Amino acid sequence: MASDTIKGHCLCGAVQVALSGPKQHVEVCHCDMCRRWAGAYFVGLDGESFTITGEDAVRTYNASKWGERAFCGTCGSNLWYKFLPTGTRSFLAGLFTDVDKYQVQKEIFVDEKACWSDLSGDHPRLTGEEEIAHAKAAGFTFD
Ligand SMILES: [Zn+2]
Repeated sequence: MASDTIKGHCLCGAVQVALSGPKQHVEVCHCDMCRRWAGAYFVGLDGESFTITGEDAVRTYNASKWGERAFCGTCGSNLWYKFLPTGTRSFLAGLFTDVDKYQVQKEIFVDEKACWSDLSGDHPRLTGEEEIAHAKAAGFTFD
């Protein structure tokens, strides 16, 4: 078992994240927006609750009506993706030091994946259409 609260920070340390009750796995998104934003693909980590120190340094950008992307205004490290309909934040797994053993739970938008982003492991791989269908079934709307 990992500790109940894991700590992470951006490259310069201006923004600190303490994530309590982290899920013991990461989710990977290969959509075109995440690829452009994160360089290859987005690796996200959620938890039960979080605290953020250094909010003054945080900058945000909404690339879509349903998603806010946050980064450090000092060093440029990406910090989180916030799904606006629920307020859920998915933090970049790379911010944290104690998550190297976490497995991939699923990959999404694999139909937009670059061939140089192939990941090993036996986990679900959903296309964008399949992922959006799941979200719609859960009651979210995308327009
Ligand atoms: Zn920073």
